[in-house]
Amino acid sequence: MSGQRLAIRGDLLEVTADPGFGGKPSSCVRFDADHWLLIEDGRVLGRSASEPDASWTRQDHRGRLLMPGFIDTHVHSPQLGVIASHGAQLLDWLDTYTYPAELRFADPEFAAQASARFLDALLAHGTTSAVVFPTVHKASVDALFEAALQRGMRVIAGKVLMDRHAPDGLRDDLAQGERDCVDLIGRWHGRERLCYAVTVRFAPTSTPEQLGMAGALMAAHPGLYMQTHVAENREEVRWVAELFPGARSYLDVYRQYGLLGQRAVLAHGVWLDAADRVLLAETGAQIAHAPSSNLFLGSGLMSWAQLQDAGAPVTLASDVGGGTSLSMLRTMADAYKIQSLQGVRLTAWKALYAATRGAARALHLEHEIGGFEPGTLADVTAWDWAVGPVALHRDSMARELHERVFAWMTLGDERNLAATWIAGQQLYRRPGV
Ligand SMILES: [Zn+2]
Repeated sequence: MSGQRLAIRGDLLEVTADPGFGGKPSSCVRFDADHWLLIEDGRVLGRSASEPDASWTRQDHRGRLLMPGFIDTHVHSPQLGVIASHGAQLLDWLDTYTYPAELRFADPEFAAQASARFLDALLAHGTTSAVVFPTVHKASVDALFEAALQRGMRVIAGKVLMDRHAPDGLRDDLAQGERDCVDLIGRWHGRERLCYAVTVRFAPTSTPEQLGMAGALMAAHPGLYMQTHVAENREEVRWVAELFPGARSYLDVYRQYGLLGQRAVLAHGVWLDAADRVLLAETGAQIAHAPSSNLFLGSGLMSWAQLQDAGAPVTLASDVGGGTSLSMLRTMADAYKIQSLQGVRLTAWKALYAATRGAARALHLEHEIGGFEPGTLADVTAWDWAVGPVALHRDSMARELHERVFAWMTLGDERNLAATWIAGQQLYRRPGV
């Protein structure tokens, strides 16, 4: 596709630096109303206020918001079918809903169909990159990576390690788990836009021996990611304390086994203490904050400001199926409410940063995703500012940019999305657009 030139017209918005919690610094935001985003061979070339010449394929989304695609740092590909399941907290929820759904991914054909549906759903919600939990089955990882490869998406994933406290059909063992990981790393890690993550479901479902094996994999293969869950729910935290009496805290279990580092993504982190926050900052491991999941499962209110003060990176995640929407707009709106209950006002800039450039930075992918810097891959989304009479009226009343973007973030969802491009290829378009 050498020489392919695409120009997309719209209101270009990106958050280029961490605005923190102290106010609404406009220096962190770049907004170019009614500009053309110029894309050549799948990469951002620049932007222009005037219409480019006829050598460019032009797509006119004037009056719409053009943004870098969202990055969801924690989501479960096999759980679309159990989203919005009633009446359980974390540990019951896993037994009742999640594990039965995950059993079906042993079947490669089922896994292939489900993975395609999952990635297309991400694209239809404006999410262009994701850190994903498939299942314990090797077939679930092959299927997900294959589907991501076909779409050219940036996906980070790995086989779930789980050798205890899980039902038949969802457990591996030390030797098999390691063989599967080594095989999958060889096949997928670093291929196109795919990276492998050593994926420990959570400390209770791995034996100390398996955690040790996971740490050894991390040490043996530089550049791997690590993903897991930490301190989501109080009952879970108590269980981990019983299972690992030698660890100072739940997070400390992962440190002991060599699993914390610059490429570690830990979902939730609701019940952390000051020493944990320092440990995150020291290692560079990030918390994937999943507000709709924390509310839905009644897990607790994560203190983003305390993590920020400690210097620990925080990104945003849908955590579907515990979360109730793949929409990062819904996720940001829920994050605002969780912080609001703790007396902290999350700005639209801070939320957008965490879901785009901040996530790219925390994942060490800033050169590729999260913004419109020249040279980055053109993962782009076009959004209606408002859908429906209430949002349209609210949008018309906005006096300044932050007010307008905050109302979009709070009232909007995937129905606002008009189109999604991956590396300059349009892969989603709303019917009628
Ligand atoms: Zn999760």
